[in-house]
Amino acid sequence: MSRFNQPLGGNEMPRSGGTATMIRLPSVPSPEHLDACFIGVPMDIGASWRAGTRFGPRAIRAESCLLRPFNVATGAAPFESLQVADVGDVAINTFNLPDSARRIREAYVELLRHPVRPITLGGDHSITYPILQAVAEKHGPVALIHIDAHADINDTMFGEPIAHGTTFRRAYEAGAIIPELTFQIGLRGTGYSPEDFDWSRGKGFTVIPADDCWNKHLTPVIDEIRAKIGDRKTYISFDIDALDPSVAPGTGTPEIGGLTAWQGLQLIRGCRGLDVVGADIVEVSPPYDPSGNTALVAANLAFELLCVLPGVSYTRV
Ligand code: MN
Ligand code: MN
Repeated sequence: MSRFNQPLGGNEMPRSGGTATMIRLPSVPSPEHLDACFIGVPMDIGASWRAGTRFGPRAIRAESCLLRPFNVATGAAPFESLQVADVGDVAINTFNLPDSARRIREAYVELLRHPVRPITLGGDHSITYPILQAVAEKHGPVALIHIDAHADINDTMFGEPIAHGTTFRRAYEAGAIIPELTFQIGLRGTGYSPEDFDWSRGKGFTVIPADDCWNKHLTPVIDEIRAKIGDRKTYISFDIDALDPSVAPGTGTPEIGGLTAWQGLQLIRGCRGLDVVGADIVEVSPPYDPSGNTALVAANLAFELLCVLPGVSYTRV
């Protein structure tokens, strides 16, 4: 018997059976004694176009029931050295976005009283602002690896300061992120002006547009980022719309010409060695992909995020 929680195996209970927790891990009421946890934020009231991300956490958990405990490609064996569980969802207020942001922030402040590294299943991208507030309250400003089709740096949307397109401007203003160690990867699409991403650059962020990634192995890109970040505490925010809509159609604001699934894997795997204090995978909108493929992609990316947390044992170097 391992002293660490193990995903329920497919030969103990068919993968179609049992409770669909994340990677079939135990569902626990408290993050006590955990090294890492999965947590859902079932919210879509911050979305500007298609909604549906409130169903993201549940769909990602359902598709994650296929996942097995070892990362055959990288050798990562997260359940050999980390205590991991599914701590459930944040009770957001479906009728009030600012109140939901407050609830998320308070939930993560409480969560982070424990030495646990949360991997969040979204939810629209507005959830990342209150999460980063709580992360910064504990750790101070963090380095940020933000993988997305969009910069999410609007000042307001329809006059509202909190929305899925204002997240990283708010995080910057709150002093939650280190501007010189903020990397936005995969940006593209039509804009309000040709200078849409200049605000980021003006603040010291590094912007890597999607077309700079086309036909390229992204390992050298993330290697360079990792070297710049060094031992600073780091947060990873992965908006599923960074990937091409052919890979991940179930999302709120799709943009053509995105990253491939394997480029997403390269970026996450390249984060191994960083002091990752938390991560999220957001903007999965299951109603727009009845095949379940987008949620399946997100479930795998969430597992890959777990595999690069500090303390994960590797069966080979
Ligand atoms: Mn986003
Ligand atoms: Mn996006």
